[in-house]
Amino acid sequence: MIASLEQSQQHRRDVLRLLLWITFIGGCLFSVVNTIRGLWWLAGLEIVYGLFSLALIRIIRTTTYIQIWTLAYLIPFFSIMMYALYIPNTSSSTFVWVLTIPVLSYLLLGRKVGFWSSLVFVVAGIVIYHFRFMTGNFPLNVATTLNITLSSIAMMSFAHIYERNREMNEERLLELAGTDRLTGLANRMKLVESFARLSALASRNQVPLAVALVDLDFFKMINDKYGHGVGDEALCHSAELLRSKTRTTDMLARVGGEEFALIMLSATRSDAVGHLEEIRKLFHKSPIWVGSQKVPVTFSAGVAELNADGVDLDTLLSKADGRLYQAKRSGRDRVISVDDVQAAVE
Ligand code: GH3
Ligand code: MG
Ligand code: MG
Repeated sequence: MIASLEQSQQHRRDVLRLLLWITFIGGCLFSVVNTIRGLWWLAGLEIVYGLFSLALIRIIRTTTYIQIWTLAYLIPFFSIMMYALYIPNTSSSTFVWVLTIPVLSYLLLGRKVGFWSSLVFVVAGIVIYHFRFMTGNFPLNVATTLNITLSSIAMMSFAHIYERNREMNEERLLELAGTDRLTGLANRMKLVESFARLSALASRNQVPLAVALVDLDFFKMINDKYGHGVGDEALCHSAELLRSKTRTTDMLARVGGEEFALIMLSATRSDAVGHLEEIRKLFHKSPIWVGSQKVPVTFSAGVAELNADGVDLDTLLSKADGRLYQAKRSGRDRVISVDDVQAAVE
């Protein structure tokens, strides 16, 4: 998810960089033209803004506040457009620039901020145009107003629809990237992301957090005896049982073939063991059926706790994995949350 969002930010950065170069070159050219025409204030504004754009090219390469810098660039940019439209001796063709406002706003600021920025500046542009360029010819005025208003609405609507679809596709892609195809549970990538969020939450609120690794017992036998299709069914069934016992604040993911991880917020190791014992009993009560044949599914689990066993996910998972291994060695279908000193000595 984070990678994808970064990609989207990178895309905005690239568009902004291109625009800054265009603004710099355009600002220099226009300031020369407007100096010759005697529009000193406008020429001055354009050269200052061109230089500001040049400075921004360096800033946006590294800044993490891309949205704020984009606003710092766009608001003066749109304001200069309004000023150029307002002052005497400028051409009515200046309005063409107003049509770029929705595209730039949506592309660089996203749907919500882009909408408000477009609305404010496009409406201002239409109003200024109206006062500045309207003649005494009523039918011509109506035609001109219709032209500029409808073309502005069209540009804003296209930009809005495009950005909404792009956001929806991005969300869908992020969801798919974090989902296990077979069981519909979160995958390892999503687990890593959720751990960062949940462990920060646990530390901030000074509550415990437990991590468990759950591995189905003798799963290969189910595959070998009944076929891969039944194996898949058993995996989905187990995922569903685990999901039915997962609280909304917890996180369940499929992290390997027949292996699941569970992050439990506000749970100590012993809370987690109690919870997993409940799930273990549920598994006992819920075998899968192949025709009329009952196929029991059991699991073994290892548990670790934030701080007591480590602070990062890799360490906690490796601790939990060690205990899971002990659970397997001592007969399977059990949950272990402390290291077996004897096993460690061996
Ligand atoms: P243990 O109790 O020691 O964990 O034994 P096990 O048989 O469960 O463990 P092992 O690691 O030997 O086998 C895991 C099996 O899970 C092997 C692999 O074929 C199967 N498996 C992995 N992913 C899938 C899957 O997506 N679908 C199916 N049907 N089987 C899978
Ligand atoms: Mg396994
Ligand atoms: Mg297994």
